[in-house]
Amino acid sequence: MAFEPPDEEAPRGPLPVVRPADPSARRAELFPQASDAEWNDWRWPQRHAARDAASLSRLLPLTDDERAGLDETAKVFRVGVSPYYLTLIDPSHPYCPVRMQAIPRRAEAEVRPGELEDPLGEDPHRPVEAIVHKYPDRVLLLATDTCSVYCRHCTRRRITKGGASELTKTQLQLGLDYIASHPEVRDVLISGGDPLILSDERLEQVLRGLRAIPHVEIIRIGTRAPVTLPMRVTPALAQLLRRYAPLYVVTHFNHGKEVTPEARAACELLVDHGVPVENQAVLMRRLNSDARIIKELNHACLTMRVRPYYLHQMDVAEGCEHLRTPIEKGVEILRELRGFTSGLAVPHLAVDLPGGGGKVTLQPDYVVEKSASETVFRNYRGERYAYPEPTETDCTCPYEEVWQRRAHA
Ligand code: SF4
Repeated sequence: MAFEPPDEEAPRGPLPVVRPADPSARRAELFPQASDAEWNDWRWPQRHAARDAASLSRLLPLTDDERAGLDETAKVFRVGVSPYYLTLIDPSHPYCPVRMQAIPRRAEAEVRPGELEDPLGEDPHRPVEAIVHKYPDRVLLLATDTCSVYCRHCTRRRITKGGASELTKTQLQLGLDYIASHPEVRDVLISGGDPLILSDERLEQVLRGLRAIPHVEIIRIGTRAPVTLPMRVTPALAQLLRRYAPLYVVTHFNHGKEVTPEARAACELLVDHGVPVENQAVLMRRLNSDARIIKELNHACLTMRVRPYYLHQMDVAEGCEHLRTPIEKGVEILRELRGFTSGLAVPHLAVDLPGGGGKVTLQPDYVVEKSASETVFRNYRGERYAYPEPTETDCTCPYEEVWQRRAHA
């Protein structure tokens, strides 16, 4: 049964009660022609992604709002949903969190005042095509403009909308040369687009180039492949990534519905090979804007040894206002996590300031009173506790002078 989402201005009645769709039944229904070998070879799903309104409507009953969204955003941002991610979509519920991330609605075609094409202010910090150098000790290496799913909340859509494509050999070399000539860069985040859309061979060229630069200590890869194309994470890929350690995979689960057996196997394969995996979720209105959902997601991540790292306030990107939550919602969610579950399950709540101000983090204010002799806090249960201040306040570290000398020995 398909039905229309209620008008945002209309009174919110209860939505129909439906059971979540079973992904394996959906695969048999939607892709009966795919053999297991094809399904599990990531190139097949990549070739068979639904890339327009016509193919999506053959696979899913679309709402009027989605049909209008597909039509009105066609010139602004591309559509692409991997067959695997499609099987996670609930065909009968417009607020299915996977569906909301994959299929545009009409609101996405509207650019509201204050929304920005480059919400993180990256373009003024691109000394060469492949590099964004905004922070003192780290850079972003933009490896490709391609993804397995084009997320409706993507804030780098000016790149992922297409046209930039995979880095050419020359662009990559210019990016590597830039990093090599900046000894302050100790951390490189490879992103795009989704770098795991590159072949193993191409990815290894990038990693080899980075590892040849002595001052690059840490490599990170930002990818949604474990979420949207988990078959991409093969033993060969996990071994390849391990060879370039210390290398972290930063992935992007937003809802517990995405933590499937396949996604779990992909994350566990990476971790088993010694590749740490962290999760950055984005808080989205009516999709995961609820403490219970975020807690369940973070617990699920921890059970597959993926650390919940950031919960991002949605960036002020063009066409995304309908997904933005008030700042207070994120703080309220953290308030409902801290103390009620393990600290490992409590991510940093980050706001990436519009226009390139960089990230700031927020948390609930637990301080009630402050004086020279004590600070009084309210704990997670609302009870008051005083922390006495020490009488000695000199915090300089005398051994530091000795320890610092080792660098110049
Ligand atoms: S996978 Fe990442 S880069 Fe690609 S569309 Fe989604 S959020 Fe954007």
